[in-house]
Amino acid sequence: MAKCQKILCSVGSCIYNEFSENLCTLDAIQVSAAAKSDSGAPYDETLCASYKTRDIKE
Ligand code: SF4
Repeated sequence: MAKCQKILCSVGSCIYNEFSENLCTLDAIQVSAAAKSDSGAPYDETLCASYKTRDIKE
């Protein structure tokens, strides 16, 4: 692949997000469908599977 793409993202709660620049800091991400993935709706079919929360959940 000759071109180097940028991943524009505004998900501020993700540890990989640079919110002030609207950028993902990863070189590549995995996009996957949610468990319920037969609706054809973007929010069901195209989730960022590389997301990692900034919050520590216990
Ligand atoms: S990993 Fe996914 S959700 Fe997180 S900043 Fe990158 S594109 Fe956005």
